[in-house]
Amino acid sequence: MTHERSRELYGRALSVLVGGVNSPVRAVPRPYPFFVERGDGAHVVDADGDRYLDYVMGYGPLLLGHDLPDRVAAAVQSHAAEGPMYGAPTEVEVELAEFVARHVPSVDSVRFVNSGTEATVAAVRLARGHTGREKIVVMQGGYHGAQESTLVEGDAGDPRPSSPGVPDAFAEHTLPVPFNDREAVTRVFEEHGEAIAAVLTEPVLGNKGIVAPVDGYHERLRDLCDEHGALLVFDEVITGFRVGGLACAQGKLGVEPDVTTFGKIVGGGFPVGAVGGRAEVMDALTPVGEVFESGTFNGHPVTMAAGLETLRYAVENDVYDHVNDLGEQLRAGLTDLLADHAPRYTVVGEDSMFKTVFTREGPADLDGQCVAGCEQRADCPRYDHCPNCGADVADAETDRWERLLWPAMKAEGVFLTANQYESQFVSAAHTREDVEETLESYKRVLSEL
Ligand SMILES: *Cc1c(COP(=O)(O)O)cnc(C)c1O
Repeated sequence: MTHERSRELYGRALSVLVGGVNSPVRAVPRPYPFFVERGDGAHVVDADGDRYLDYVMGYGPLLLGHDLPDRVAAAVQSHAAEGPMYGAPTEVEVELAEFVARHVPSVDSVRFVNSGTEATVAAVRLARGHTGREKIVVMQGGYHGAQESTLVEGDAGDPRPSSPGVPDAFAEHTLPVPFNDREAVTRVFEEHGEAIAAVLTEPVLGNKGIVAPVDGYHERLRDLCDEHGALLVFDEVITGFRVGGLACAQGKLGVEPDVTTFGKIVGGGFPVGAVGGRAEVMDALTPVGEVFESGTFNGHPVTMAAGLETLRYAVENDVYDHVNDLGEQLRAGLTDLLADHAPRYTVVGEDSMFKTVFTREGPADLDGQCVAGCEQRADCPRYDHCPNCGADVADAETDRWERLLWPAMKAEGVFLTANQYESQFVSAAHTREDVEETLESYKRVLSEL
């Protein structure tokens, strides 16, 4: 592998793009990231012609991998060729909204926006406008995009902006709690119940994780919201149309939020976000209600066509069975491997999401542990050592992951997400052979960590 061309591009990029990139996680690899020239099925090819098996998949959107199936490519091309957008409604946005409303249990109506961040901004404003309250409960280590109300750290007693530029006044209205801690969120409702507009959470932490919910956690959130007149908002920007298939994580969990945010997969690889929910709540948005939401590019026809045809293709070609099987095979294989090699670790993830977390402690006897990814089972011998919340993931050996595992896997020709925190994804383009090769690579690499 040579990286001369990537090095040269990075040199140019440093002069004209902040830190050489347009989103900070892309700058994590050292000494510099490789620049991608093109995708090819489950692989990416870099500017120097090196091929990598890709489990980043655009950080989640590419359910089908890099090659658009003919019907997706044709729909994208025809909508682009007919004139990319109009500022007037089109049929394809109705079709995608119908698709989402038909398959996602809690959704009657939808507003399409252009990113996951825009979706969570709109959801927070909607919850505040609908309830007439200001406080938002979020999970420590949860991620909801680059927005003021959720770039907050600390705890409910001492919330602070997590970024310069976010006014303290925003943080004052945000109440961070540890994920999976039923007592903590109950206490926050006891203290602030009357002022809480919404609980906003990923159903499965995918950006500081992967952390699955303990049994009954989301049910507790649902009950607390109902008792106190707050809305439950699921941020399914990652899990939407990924975990639980078309019914999303909420369908798999059997818990209905009032409002759901989507992004990533629902745009088929193009910029997208969406907010959906019960009509009675959604109708608070303009033009029916008075909570302002608007966007020049909202419901962009090319994006809508890509999202719709991607999801139709997924249904007709049993894509969820395929990616979930491979995900399971990866997690089970990693669990086996890591029993013999390596420092302490936990294998996490579900359906087509997977990750290894270098947790610091572990039990001597693994009999009865989760076989294909941590399920937060209280009777698992690893339970007291596995990551139960975002802080546990942050306390793991994050440098071992980033500085040793990532580069070694890259040298094996496997492209993983750049740090310990973010999920990795299997796509329809991955094969059983790819998974076997990946496990061989992990085996070689882990034996030397
Ligand atoms: C990616 C992500 C976002 C932000 O979406 P963008 O399109 O990057 O703005 C929000 N919430 C979750 C759970 C995400 O994974």
